[in-house]
Amino acid sequence: MRAAASLQRSLAVHYRGRVPVPDRRCHQLREIVSWEPTRQLTGRRPSSEDTKQAALVCGLEPMRIKFWGVRGSTPTPQSENMRYGGNTSCVEVRFGDRIYIFDCGTGFRVLGQQLQSEFGDRPFSAQVFVSHFHWDHIQGMPFFRPLYANAESRFLFQCSSRTRSLKQVLADQMAAPYFPVDIGQMKARRDFYDIESGRITIEDGVQLQTAWLNHPQGCMGFRLETKDGILVYATDNEPGDAAFDKAVRKLAEGADVLIYDAQYLPEEYEARRRGWGHSHWREAVNVVMQSGAKELVLFHHDPDHTDAIIDKVVHEARNYYPKVRAAAEGMEINL
Ligand SMILES: [Zn+2]
Ligand SMILES: [Zn+2]
Repeated sequence: MRAAASLQRSLAVHYRGRVPVPDRRCHQLREIVSWEPTRQLTGRRPSSEDTKQAALVCGLEPMRIKFWGVRGSTPTPQSENMRYGGNTSCVEVRFGDRIYIFDCGTGFRVLGQQLQSEFGDRPFSAQVFVSHFHWDHIQGMPFFRPLYANAESRFLFQCSSRTRSLKQVLADQMAAPYFPVDIGQMKARRDFYDIESGRITIEDGVQLQTAWLNHPQGCMGFRLETKDGILVYATDNEPGDAAFDKAVRKLAEGADVLIYDAQYLPEEYEARRRGWGHSHWREAVNVVMQSGAKELVLFHHDPDHTDAIIDKVVHEARNYYPKVRAAAEGMEINL
């Protein structure tokens, strides 16, 4: 903490009177603010805490994105997958002191451990957006320790109840004989909100837009907007239906970061995966280029895709669009 305070003082001196008021068009400024001062002052690559301090000094409230689970379908704890990671879908977003979480695959359990070590005995709250109820998006819920820990903590779950309510899904998932712990052991307050297609203000300065994606039993895509950044989380989406193809491009329009389903190789999709509800990296590149989104993060990696295959996918995708990377567990993006 002392190091952070001293860095904050140094940054205040460094920037006094020199920082123009940022706005959404000042993307380059945000990058400079995020990286250069800490590098100059400390001589090292800035940590996420350094970046946060730099942004606060400059009156910015950056969006910080962290990947806790990036795998599709089922966890893959195998040595050949470990660099990108074997946990299923979970992405955390911090904006100021607010916590947003997209999906609760097995990565949600690991995020729970991190939140417990960060908050200790103190209660906290988070908004959790669930795209749909397939296992790889809900399996971490019974293993998320903060749900059991503190009665003062509060979790606001948001998803569509078009197929079923999440409250019921969570109860069913923990019912005998599937799970040994009774749901009554979860002490934290849980509120469930039903969201449908459209746009809502979820908190002061934070808007959420949703759109249905093309997936068996449905899947919801999310667009999170603050004054400093736009994140789109659109996983589990098959191309080829004109209305859905248009909807996902609209959802991704002008986003700073687009997290998109790239489960298959294009040749795998064509040969034997049509109708399975997923996309491939070439379509992901089409979506980022046609929507005007800035950066593409390939997500929901196929369980059979090793690190070497994903490396090759990124290499090939960059021949078409330079700002592409593959989601990896522990990867962070600061907007
Ligand atoms: Zn999935
Ligand atoms: Zn699914």
